[in-house]
Amino acid sequence: MRIVLLGPPGAGKGTQAKILADRLQVPHISTGDLLRENVKNNTDLGKEARDYMERGLLVPDELVAKMLTKRFAQSDTKNGFILDGYPRNLNQAETLDTILQEKNMAIDFVVYLDTAEDIIIQRLSGRLVCSVCAANYHIKNMPPKVKGVCDNCHGPLSQRTDDREETVRKRLQIYKKEVSSLIDYYERQHRLRRIDGGQEADIVLNKIIGFAKMLNDSLKV
Ligand code: AMP
Repeated sequence: MRIVLLGPPGAGKGTQAKILADRLQVPHISTGDLLRENVKNNTDLGKEARDYMERGLLVPDELVAKMLTKRFAQSDTKNGFILDGYPRNLNQAETLDTILQEKNMAIDFVVYLDTAEDIIIQRLSGRLVCSVCAANYHIKNMPPKVKGVCDNCHGPLSQRTDDREETVRKRLQIYKKEVSSLIDYYERQHRLRRIDGGQEADIVLNKIIGFAKMLNDSLKV
């Protein structure tokens, strides 16, 4: 299964992607996580990307495309993937098709997690992320067992610098500007599946699994 998760920041893409990747036994590829890893390790890409990310802007397409091509060259992507945070604009959608075509692959479907702005702000303002394994929590909706500590790896939890209100507004503004062309692109390809991202996570998950099973009824999930 090759699934793309599309939606505003805070729509639940990361949460869904992690569970789906585990259930479908395919890698979760998050361009945000890959970029944050580069920033943390102070790589050349990380040095270039940091400023854009802190300001809530998109990292230039060429840099992200190069990073993604490298990730798709790894053998674990052969049986599928859950892509989260890419594409963010039409140019990236076309780049993704090109990268996949070169590997004789195509996306199976694109989930659009349509989510209202008040829900986004509420989710992002309470989001906590593990600085070691990148697991996500929420102060109220999904608190860790021990305050400030990751359940999985015991790493420290903190707020993402780009989850501060002003940066969230910038990220949403860019998202809104780009999303309609992406929706059109995937609707034309008959690949778009809309889900209300404001629903409980397990309801959203079951709907995505339902779409996957419609394409492949022998799927074991
Ligand atoms: P995310 O974790 O998906 O919310 O991404 C965090 C930040 O990483 C974004 O605000 C961008 O600065 C950058 N980023 C992630 N994915 C992309 C992408 N596909 N294109 C450009 N920038 C990206």
